[in-house]
Amino acid sequence: MDNLKISIAHLYPDLLNLYGDRGNVITLIKRCEWRGIRVEFTDIKSGDKIGAHDLFFMGGGQDKQQEEVQEELFSQKKELLAQRDDGAVFLGICGGFQLFGHYYQPHDKNKLEGISLMDAYTIAGEKRFIGNVTAVTDFLEPKTLVGFENHSGLTYLEGETKPLATVRVGNGNNGTDGFEGARYKNVFGTYLHGSLLPKNPHFADYLINLALEKRYGENINISPLDDKIEFDAHTSVIDKNY
Ligand code: GLN
Repeated sequence: MDNLKISIAHLYPDLLNLYGDRGNVITLIKRCEWRGIRVEFTDIKSGDKIGAHDLFFMGGGQDKQQEEVQEELFSQKKELLAQRDDGAVFLGICGGFQLFGHYYQPHDKNKLEGISLMDAYTIAGEKRFIGNVTAVTDFLEPKTLVGFENHSGLTYLEGETKPLATVRVGNGNNGTDGFEGARYKNVFGTYLHGSLLPKNPHFADYLINLALEKRYGENINISPLDDKIEFDAHTSVIDKNY
């Protein structure tokens, strides 16, 4: 199928823009363009209408930025839930992941209501988890995901929301249940910064495939890319000490 296109939206990059998570959006765009897939890209900033997109990304941020984005994001909850149920793909990193759940309760502050894209909730922990993470999925090849965590929030999954991966090195969602990240329908959350996708091109392609399937209603096998450099980077940090 020629003339493929997907639309990608970056939610609130003006507010949640720490930890280099924009690298995930750049990776998705480049891996489409390298295959001749056109990308309609939109930065959705405070006050913008959400619009319909095939893939939404939201990065991480400190508690203060999460407070700033929460009201704006919550005002778009109904629209975003509808797009989730229409098969849109979501990727939330850390603070973005936390707000994809029901709520994030920071230390000594008001609870931040999330948009409930997935059955999860987050409570601020006593210590900060900072370090390299290697996690193992059951749906990617290679199975591993590598990245870097920096959070005090402890996230717990409920209902039909399943972990993205299990932790082999690091803490992941809460340092106790052995889970890293979460998935419900085509909504994905993870604590892995890095940014994540440049060193995990197989996960980037998995998300692109889902976004194409959502748009065209069929599984479109995208052509492989020469990912030697990307997987050299991936392999170089697998099981790296915390
Ligand atoms: N502020 C949240 C926490 O500390 C999220 C941090 C982040 O996005 N890296 O858990």
